[in-house]
Amino acid sequence: MKLTQICAGLAVLAVVAACGGNEEKRAVDSAKSGKLTIGIKFDQPGLGLRNPDGTYSGFDVEVARYVANKLGVAPQGITFREAPSPQRETLIENGEVDYIVATYSITDAREAKVDFAGPYFVAGQSLLVRSDNTDITGPDSLHGGKKLCSVTGSTPAQRVKEKFAADVQLQEFDTYSACVEALRNGAIDAVTTDDIILAGYAAQFPGQLKVVGAPFTTERYGIGLAKGDKASRERINAALESMIQDGSWQKAFQSTVGASGYPMPAPPQVEK
Ligand code: GLU
Repeated sequence: MKLTQICAGLAVLAVVAACGGNEEKRAVDSAKSGKLTIGIKFDQPGLGLRNPDGTYSGFDVEVARYVANKLGVAPQGITFREAPSPQRETLIENGEVDYIVATYSITDAREAKVDFAGPYFVAGQSLLVRSDNTDITGPDSLHGGKKLCSVTGSTPAQRVKEKFAADVQLQEFDTYSACVEALRNGAIDAVTTDDIILAGYAAQFPGQLKVVGAPFTTERYGIGLAKGDKASRERINAALESMIQDGSWQKAFQSTVGASGYPMPAPPQVEK
């Protein structure tokens, strides 16, 4: 084999090594360099939103910033990256983000691929309909082939497939804002996801949309990070505890989700 061929082969190997997986990546190490890439939602008002002027706002954004600060990273050192529901595990596994704060429920299936700090919030699945709708009042009224929208790779979509598959026509989109658009233009009958997310959309379109029924699942929001990154997980848990203890959690909630009228619950117990 010619030297050039050997080098070409080695180059391929080097690229594969650099791109394949990133098990060494730890959030605390990135933080030492003063920089963090954090996954959030870009289209969920009150939680994770990219504003038209390029700034970011929402409860998840505040949690992300508070934790970053405790890891020694100033707001200017943060790069926010969109983390849509179906891409979250992959973004973490590929080392494209240091951690994710994006209405991300802690589940056994996800814990096979990533680790979670938290929980920092507990929500529950609910339904969003047009304000003039009177026949959908909760999950039991979905019978009769109602058109329901949720997001691919989310726990609410999974739940609908498991529990309500016989009753509804599920449409899965990539984002909840796309579902809300379809609801507003009449293409679907209801959107399902966590009540706190739906409250944000209802507040965005006052008089047009409403949340109905009592929450029918428990969604414990965690901060997703690389599997096995125990050092970062412990530091993030400590940061969440202090956010709750020093009143920043409550302040952040009021100034973000609070505007939607969603009542502030007691903060959850962060796991050790
Ligand atoms: N908390 C649920 C989940 O993690 C729904 C919200 C979302 O998709 O971000 O799947």
